[in-house]
Amino acid sequence: MNTISDNILMVKKTIKESCEKSKRNTNSVQLVAVSKKQPMTRILEALEAGHRLYGENRIQEATEHWENLRAQYNDLCLHLIGPLQTNKVKEAVSLFDVIETVDRPKLVKHLATEAKKQNKAISCYIQVNTGEEEQKSGVRPKDLPSLLKLCHSEGLNITGLMCIPPKNDLAPLHFAFLKKLAAQYNLPNLSMGMSNDFDKAIPLGATHIRVGTAFFGERPVEIK
Ligand SMILES: *Cc1c(COP(=O)(O)O)cnc(C)c1O
Repeated sequence: MNTISDNILMVKKTIKESCEKSKRNTNSVQLVAVSKKQPMTRILEALEAGHRLYGENRIQEATEHWENLRAQYNDLCLHLIGPLQTNKVKEAVSLFDVIETVDRPKLVKHLATEAKKQNKAISCYIQVNTGEEEQKSGVRPKDLPSLLKLCHSEGLNITGLMCIPPKNDLAPLHFAFLKKLAAQYNLPNLSMGMSNDFDKAIPLGATHIRVGTAFFGERPVEIK
């Protein structure tokens, strides 16, 4: 197994090359290291290597991974990249800095209320179901304008869009579509691209790439 530091170097090299090819500043792309299903030893290794930006897709696991480390690393930044149930909003607002998966009116209202209650100016992205897949979360593109309007009236701070392209589709088509939507609504952040395709997301404007496997190595199979 490669060390985390080796992996980070390789991912950063690809980021740099993609940025150069597309004439972007390397600093304009943030590497969100997806630590879901990774053992604490790997996470500690990544922290040791100096990485501070992480993504998790489940609240309970994220709490187990990060609740105690928060106090130790005050420059830590955590993104929620998985679906959020309204009964977990309180924990999510308390633990995360950015919630990337806002996708429905009920969630907007709960998040806005909870952010006020905790007096926390949490930054949010809207997840767009660009492939209009039945089983996938994310707002349908046609419902994006009304959801944004609601966020605005509820005072929820939306700063970007996020997508997960369909498995058997050409991801760049979805990246380009998301970029167009973000430009249309003046949203600066674009979370798109994972281990297999982040090099293709960067030329299309990704500001946040969500990289798990290429950063940490294969996720271990759960033994229970
Ligand atoms: C797991 C996950 C990733 C990372 O996937 P890799 O292929 O391991 O890079 C990115 N985004 C989301 C939403 C995920 O759930």
